[in-house]
This record gives sequence, C-alpha cells and structure tokens, in this order.
Amino acid sequence: MGKVIAIDGPAGAGKGTIAKLLAGELGFSYLDTGALYRAVALALREKGINPEDSDEKIASALKGIGIAFKDEKVFLKENSQLSTLNSQRPDGRDVSEDIRTTEMGHYSSVFSARKAVRDFLLDIQRNASLNSDLVAEGRDMTTVVFPDAWKKFYLDASVEERAKRRYLQLKEKGINITESEAKNDVVERDARDSRRDIAPLMKAEDAVLIDSSSMTIDKVLENIMKVIRADH
Ligand code: C5P
Repeated sequence: MGKVIAIDGPAGAGKGTIAKLLAGELGFSYLDTGALYRAVALALREKGINPEDSDEKIASALKGIGIAFKDEKVFLKENSQLSTLNSQRPDGRDVSEDIRTTEMGHYSSVFSARKAVRDFLLDIQRNASLNSDLVAEGRDMTTVVFPDAWKKFYLDASVEERAKRRYLQLKEKGINITESEAKNDVVERDARDSRRDIAPLMKAEDAVLIDSSSMTIDKVLENIMKVIRADH
C-alpha cells in the first residue's frame, strides 16, 4: 500500500483544487471520491432507483456496476465482472461531465447516506492506494476510508466563500445557476452530509484544520506542504 494524504471537508472548500496541486507537486495519484459517489448516483438513477428504495434494492442495482477514476475522469460500466475497473485501461463510459450537474450533486448526497452505497465504494476507494501514493479527498477519507493515512487534513471555509466558489465553478462548466441556488446546494448538502448516521462529515481528531476563507490557493498549498515537510 502506498502513502495516503487524506483530505476531508464540506462542499466548495477547495479540496479538489488543492488535492490535485498537491498530487502534482508530490508525484502522487489523485482520487476525487465525490466523483465516485456522483457516478453511483448517476448509475442508480439510470436504473430507476429512488431515494426511498430499500438498501436491498440499491445493493442489487449496484451488482455488476464497475467504476474507475483515472486522470481526473470517472468511468462507469454496466454488466462488469469487477466493481473496481482496471484503472490503467478503464473500459467503461466516461461520465465525468454527466456527473457535474446540481441534480447529481443532490442525488449523490442523498444516496451517499445509504449503507449499500458506502459499502459498495469502500474497497474501490481503498484499492486506489494499493499500487501508488495517493492524495484522496472527500468526506470520510480521514475517518473511515483511510483512518491510518500518512497525513490528514480538514479543509474548511466560510459558507459564503464556499457558495461563491461553487457558483463560479459551475458557471465555468456552463451550468446555468444563480448565486443563491449555489448557496442552497452547498448548505443543503453540508447539512445532510454532516448529519447522516454512517460516515458523517466531521474533522478527525488527528487531522490538521485549515480554514481557507481568506487564503489564496498558493497559501493553502504552502501551509499543507509545511505540515508535510515538518514531519518528514
Ligand atoms: O465532493 P462532491 O461535492 O463532488 O461530492 C458529492 C457528494 O458525495 C457529497 O455531497 C457527499 O454527499 C458525497 N460524498 C461522500 N463521501 C465522500 C465523498 C463524497 O459522502 N467521501
């Protein structure tokens, strides 16, 4: 197993941007676990699964689904023998664009509270660290998926700042959204992600807290690198 840098935090805290830069700087692989939850939500919706369906029904719909994350893209395959697709040559459908809608943001948050979904993704996430050093970001990287991670960070920012970042991010992707809709998206998902029973979003005791509300991306990266270098 490779070294893991685990980063958690709420929506719009800048985890993706920072994790990608950090991975590039250190030569580690990058894993966006939110993309996996979004891909599962897409697969479930395409199979006609509803949020109120039973765990058994969800688990059975997930049988045969294969997922891979490679080079910032997420791939989905139906009728797959393996739940973790070969990440060197993923043969699934590239759903990287389809998962970035506010609708999939909503469904990923709803379905991610379900045990069948979290169980399904656990090994897929852990497998990503088997053959390489990894920067993994999400909501339960430091607490559940990689509790023994080499370094742990909790990235936070004020709700106003996170809403603004999410708004600009979605705008850039050509998604039609107002600032108040972006704020609702962030607030609604944070509440659900923090209050759920299984693997809720929380700061691990041994994670270093970084509040990026008034920091540039470079400053956040510098602070994280300081922590990493300090314990080398
Ligand atoms: O990171 P992103 O906003 O794309 O994540 C989408 C949703 O997936 C989150 O709102 C959260 O409900 C869920 N998620 C999760 N655990 C993770 C990563 C994401 O529950 N490790």
